[in-house]
Amino acid sequence: MTKSAQTLGILGGGQLGRMSALAAARLGIKTHIFCPETDSPASHVAAKTFVASYDDKDALKDFAKSVDVISYEFENIPVETVRYLKKFKPVYPDEKLLEIAQHRWKEKQFLNDIGIPTAKWGKAKSTADVKKQIQQWGVTDCIIKTTRFGYDGKGQAKIDKNTDIGKAWASLKTDEAIVEFLVPFKHEISVIVARDQFGKTESYVPVLNDHKNHILSKTTAPAPLDDALLARATKMAQKLAKQVGLVGVLGLELFVTKDGQIIANEIAPRTHNSGHWTIDACPVSQFENHVRTVCGLPVGKAVRHSDAVMLNLIGDDVALVNKYLGKANACIHLYGKPEVRAGRKMGHITLLKGK
Ligand code: AMP
Repeated sequence: MTKSAQTLGILGGGQLGRMSALAAARLGIKTHIFCPETDSPASHVAAKTFVASYDDKDALKDFAKSVDVISYEFENIPVETVRYLKKFKPVYPDEKLLEIAQHRWKEKQFLNDIGIPTAKWGKAKSTADVKKQIQQWGVTDCIIKTTRFGYDGKGQAKIDKNTDIGKAWASLKTDEAIVEFLVPFKHEISVIVARDQFGKTESYVPVLNDHKNHILSKTTAPAPLDDALLARATKMAQKLAKQVGLVGVLGLELFVTKDGQIIANEIAPRTHNSGHWTIDACPVSQFENHVRTVCGLPVGKAVRHSDAVMLNLIGDDVALVNKYLGKANACIHLYGKPEVRAGRKMGHITLLKGK
């Protein structure tokens, strides 16, 4: 067998870290988690957890010394933390991807530079900049988003002809934002790519994503769209993985317009919620591929044995579990979060088709 890391360190204690740790365990690899929170979902299934802040150098050093390789499960890990940890152990994916994914100007610029289309965009540091940009485009509608720390629709505001732009700007509580042309998309899809340390890339079939209140609610795999279109989306994500020298897993979120254009929206430098179906419908899931690629094993084939629909259990939805407990095709995943909160991802259910 190819030599693999024996202990994987993961920065972040959420459900993505939990599912990677579970996949690692199946491969005989231990996981150590580093996160600021106690009782985190990932800590429940990890061999060891370091609870400290991301700028606690002593704790980071101890963590690094206890593992063979380090990865992360969410994109807001400070880049300085990754740079510091790299003095002790390899960290994958590289911080170049993290830096791009953490800042919407850099993200859009990088995508455009490598020939991946995005919505038209501009930089804004004030209400006046937003007004100037939409005037220049000759439109009244747009979306403004904070450059950093936006997720699940947070940190963004939609603007139309009736919007008080000053108020919308103030609602972002930021001093820099991106102004984006409003894409009249028909579908939202995503592609998950894994790339190993030998440069081999695998990608899961593109999936269709439905959102409720800006949070992913349902993923259909594969996306019921034209094969040629799905192949184009896959090619884009693979190109991105290659261009950033990915070692690990990334997700690329895309819009599909009525006339079949594919427009990139966002990069996730990690496993992605729209890839949870792969745990139950593929021999090698996105989480196993995350573990394999960062631990030095060859990437696994991203093939599926079943089509699937994944339903997120958000907040009170978690009670729906009872409905699925007796269903033969329902694979239930709960993240062990003690407190149910509105908008909180509590678990998911994958329904295998034709089973
Ligand atoms: P984001 O935080 O960039 O993933 O955006 C959250 C959601 O807002 C997306 O999933 C879309 O539904 C919507 N959205 C974001 N950007 C645009 C855009 N430029 N045009 C239209 N809808 C958008």
